[in-house]
Amino acid sequence: MRLTAPWRARCRFKTSQMYQPKELIPFTELKSSKKIEELTSRSSRLLIEYGIVKPTSPGYFALLPLAFRSLIKLNKIIDDELEQINCQKIQLPHVSPANIWNKSGRLKSVGTELVKFKDRQDKEMVLCPTHEECITSLVGGYNLSIRDLPLRLYQTGSKFRAEMKPRFGLIRSNEFIMKDLYTFDKGCEAALQTYQEVSDAYNKIFTRIGVPYQRVEGDNGNIGGTSSHEFHYPAGIGQDELLWCSACKWGKNIELNNDKQGSDECPGCGEKLKISKGIEVGHTFLLGQKYSKIFGAQFTGAGGGGGGKAETLEMGCYGIGVSRILAAAVEVLSTETEIRWPSSLSPFSVCILTQKTGTKAYTGVDVDNLYEKINNIFPNDVILDDREKLSVGKKQYEADRTGYPILVLLGRKNMNPDPLIEIHIPSENISLELRPQDGLDYLKSISAKYLI
Ligand SMILES: [Zn+2]
Repeated sequence: MRLTAPWRARCRFKTSQMYQPKELIPFTELKSSKKIEELTSRSSRLLIEYGIVKPTSPGYFALLPLAFRSLIKLNKIIDDELEQINCQKIQLPHVSPANIWNKSGRLKSVGTELVKFKDRQDKEMVLCPTHEECITSLVGGYNLSIRDLPLRLYQTGSKFRAEMKPRFGLIRSNEFIMKDLYTFDKGCEAALQTYQEVSDAYNKIFTRIGVPYQRVEGDNGNIGGTSSHEFHYPAGIGQDELLWCSACKWGKNIELNNDKQGSDECPGCGEKLKISKGIEVGHTFLLGQKYSKIFGAQFTGAGGGGGGKAETLEMGCYGIGVSRILAAAVEVLSTETEIRWPSSLSPFSVCILTQKTGTKAYTGVDVDNLYEKINNIFPNDVILDDREKLSVGKKQYEADRTGYPILVLLGRKNMNPDPLIEIHIPSENISLELRPQDGLDYLKSISAKYLI
């Protein structure tokens, strides 16, 4: 039986027990090998190397515990903001019959990107890449009253798209996690009001995530509808080209109107437009009646006794690429060797690092007690690197590269009669040596930025 240090029973999250299969390849070696070309993006390489995400087959990925913690944080931000505008969360099946896709015309227009299969009754089925058909036929199956409007339903879950060439890990994978919201309104004016409210909520969501983003006028692609906007993270590997104005924040996707040369002045303020590549992380569409007409999604007016003429609903649909954001945020913020998460999404905000056993480290600050106090400031967001055979320096090297934003080190100075703890915030080049109580006060003073 292994001897365990005395704090083990009480600390909740420990590196020694975290499932994080690392495969660290020296960067120089990697650069010269073919592997980097296969992996194609910095985020994909780093997330795989550090045991955060693993490929299971081409275009499919397992999110391991650290990635899943980030995912939960991201979903919380999204749920918070959508609940503020009365969106209700549901779960639709991943599978839908192909006939509703035929009815909308998208069985053909989306074509080979649809993942299809036949069930045992030989009926053709679709693994949904999006759910306009599914939700509109559902809503169309029951009579809505004007009192039910506006109706805003969303879900977060796996979607499927057969990519010819899946690339950049989670940024362009065959299975991906998306948040999709569908809205139903009475008349164009109300639909536009909803569009505005959701766009505002999206701005709040992307601001809370904290990665710089750009909202641009978008291309309607194969979703259809009358108006759309896209949210992008500017990045070199982005597959969209954006024109945008740094003065008034107006922008558009160059795909729009196939306007390659376009104007080089902002139509709003006349400033010179900038051009950059972007990774699309969100998209909003005003759909009009494109799907509600096809699937008979209607409401009846407030005539007494449920009377009144049935009218067709006005719809909107709104997506956020949840798994894509995790990878794209890492892509934008990281260096070639160090993962950097936005402070809102790091798997743990704080990592406490101890010396290896036998170095008398535990004669200083009581680790268990410190963990508990820091955990009170960052609830359920603290991990202790308790591995017995690694020096504190090696632990620091790994924690820094895994991207934990705040490192609390119990190093040599912790063995002083008057012990000091070290606090490092690598992304801001902050390194402090403080008495334990001053350290806790300092952590408290900066905690707001990390709490979501
Ligand atoms: Zn402008």
